[in-house]
Amino acid sequence: MSQNANPLKQYFRQPAVYLRLPSDGQFWPQGSLEMPANKELPVLPMTAIDEITYRTPDALFNGQAVVNVIQSCVPNIRDAWSAPGADVNSILIAIRMASFGHEMELNSACPACNNVDEYAIDLRIVLDGLKMPDYMTPLQQGDLEIALRPMTYRDQNDVNLKQFEQQRVLQSVPDSDLPDEKKLELLNTALKTITELTVSALKWNIASIRTPQVLVTDPEHIEEFLRNTDRKLFVMIRDLIIEKRSISEFKPVKIKCVACNHEYNQTVTLDQTSFFDQAS
Ligand SMILES: [Zn+2]
Repeated sequence: MSQNANPLKQYFRQPAVYLRLPSDGQFWPQGSLEMPANKELPVLPMTAIDEITYRTPDALFNGQAVVNVIQSCVPNIRDAWSAPGADVNSILIAIRMASFGHEMELNSACPACNNVDEYAIDLRIVLDGLKMPDYMTPLQQGDLEIALRPMTYRDQNDVNLKQFEQQRVLQSVPDSDLPDEKKLELLNTALKTITELTVSALKWNIASIRTPQVLVTDPEHIEEFLRNTDRKLFVMIRDLIIEKRSISEFKPVKIKCVACNHEYNQTVTLDQTSFFDQAS
């Protein structure tokens, strides 16, 4: 490598978007994020290498590819694995905007007349709809005080991967050539594993449980508590976590059908086909 500064450096990609994280940097562990004074992170467009990385089949389940692209396009982010899940959707939208602009083409079918058309949605509106849930107010129940927190991208990815594996078992087993007895056994095991995963995922959403005597933060103790508490409290905690999580997820966009003028809500996803500019 040359010792001299590269005279081409001024022609390297430049920030195209400045992103304010829904979390404003809260819940990021020390050293994982370098937050500028104005709290706006510069976002660079993807390089050709980023695109290839992201386009790798199963990239959405391949957390490492997503992490590499985030760290390449948002250099202030040093460890994207530690990102609170609530920020990841915003970061990906910002990278998409920096790379291809704020309009995203989307195929949508009208529920009234079944007409399928292509619509342009404004990603700035989608980005504005992503909020950080309130994790400051704990759940009070009897003399317990349960403090929630967002899952990290690492925990989220881990749970998604394991859930995906089990879903695959549930889908493939019924049509397989295995004897019925074996099929039933495999299906039961997969269902049981999915339930177990749900419980252990909830554990990553709990920061601490305070009793009148002590503050518990050990995830193993918290998981054991979730397994052994009564159903009523378990459901209360689970529903609150789901409610919080939905605040940081994509809100549906309003679409007016070009054929019949019917207005309806269309869900937005950032799967691989929609992430990349079709025209490129
Ligand atoms: Zn219609």
